[in-house]
Amino acid sequence: MASIWELHQQLINKERSAVEIAQESLERINKLEPKLKSFLCLTADQALEQARRVDAKIAAGEEIGLLAGIPVAVKDNMCTRGVPTTCASKILENFVPPYESTVTQKLRDADAVIVGKTNLDQFAMGSSTETSAFQVTSNPWDIERVPGGSSGGSAAAVASGECSVALGSDTGGSIRQPASLCGVVGLKPTYGLVSRYGLVAYASSLDQIGPFGRTVEDAAILLQAIAGYDPKDSTSLNVPIPSYINSLRPNFRPKGQIRIGVIKETFEDGLDPEVKDAVTKAMELLQDLGAEIQVISCPRFRYGLATYYVIATSEASANLARFDGVKYGIRDRDAETLLDMYGTTRAKGFGEEVKRRIMLGTYALSAGYYDAYYLKAQKVRTLIKEDFERAFAQVDILTCPTSPTTAFKIGEKTNDPLSMYLSDLMTIPVNLAGLPALSLPCGFDSKGLPIGLQFIGNVLKESQLLEVGRVYQESTPWHTRTPQIN
Ligand code: GLN
Repeated sequence: MASIWELHQQLINKERSAVEIAQESLERINKLEPKLKSFLCLTADQALEQARRVDAKIAAGEEIGLLAGIPVAVKDNMCTRGVPTTCASKILENFVPPYESTVTQKLRDADAVIVGKTNLDQFAMGSSTETSAFQVTSNPWDIERVPGGSSGGSAAAVASGECSVALGSDTGGSIRQPASLCGVVGLKPTYGLVSRYGLVAYASSLDQIGPFGRTVEDAAILLQAIAGYDPKDSTSLNVPIPSYINSLRPNFRPKGQIRIGVIKETFEDGLDPEVKDAVTKAMELLQDLGAEIQVISCPRFRYGLATYYVIATSEASANLARFDGVKYGIRDRDAETLLDMYGTTRAKGFGEEVKRRIMLGTYALSAGYYDAYYLKAQKVRTLIKEDFERAFAQVDILTCPTSPTTAFKIGEKTNDPLSMYLSDLMTIPVNLAGLPALSLPCGFDSKGLPIGLQFIGNVLKESQLLEVGRVYQESTPWHTRTPQIN
């Protein structure tokens, strides 16, 4: 599927209609879904209706925006009015939201064509999309491998050309890690830049919605559409939104003015040598392009994973208390008492990983343990933030691999939660500090699997990340390769 910019040109030059573009997307989805399984639900009728509205605007000579008529997929943890929103969990199998999330409303206002809702790890808990209660999504580069997670459906859909761009959510890496494993661009915005209204909460102090695209420009266009203050989200930032698209100046070169810090600790044990090699080459190239490269130490980075699994599970245990068979989703009708009904509904509705996290979080928050675990984790979170602050006093952008490995085999890590948790070693500290970060392709390993490079920015420095990402992208061929899946 062509880029947003190309599709937009085709539309305004009347070479193709929005209906034709929507049909191309829907046909590709129908063809690939038996293998890929990236979608949980398709909204073909609504998509075609939306496309017809765009065509009518064009016919009437109205000006259309960049996202008008563009096929977009949405992770199935964002509420869409009248369209099922399951979080890939049995407990929400029958849930049809009576309201629209802010981000999807913004997509509709921009005349984007939403083609469907994508698969995810149940309640966004996982790194492979395998904890979905409904299906396992494949990586388009090798269908025996995982697409990463939790936004694996969105990443696979974009990588395979089922749609042009997609929305994901990122609590500890769920946009960047699947972007890396599927060879696409993914951006996790600054905490509060994009409204979380209508995003089913996993860990509210960490969750952020962000874009996937085949190119940095496409990710920037989608970010532009969803960023901005929302009074319906109390953590939404009320700040002016720059033009991310204009900041992608064609001749921009980071000569001397951009200082990039390579995070030393991410190059230690556990890093796949081929990933290390590709990222090292990327650093060399950036240096040739004029960036100043320094090695930076973030010594507390290594506590990120432990801190995250206390904070995220604690917040999850509170957030997921609302699924009790009363207000949303399924209800166990065989239970005899109210209390039994709560328990058996949750026992039947939640998957294993979700239960594991609710138990962990409930334990960490319980009287007597709160100070030892939750409070301590919050303190370490502050220390991690300080590491970043110190680093940003010396450099403009930080960089490291997005994921320590390329895509692993389906089933390879399902019985070993700890090894699965390690997938997010390099992405989690970013969420703990609320910072923006971009992942983009930086090569392929000897198995032909994509490798991702991560750029981490200071608060609200999305434009800078996109600029540097775009310069790197223009000097490399990685984004032009597409998986051979048909
Ligand atoms: N993989 C991490 C986890 O399992 C992060 C998930 C996410 O960002 N939603 O929690």
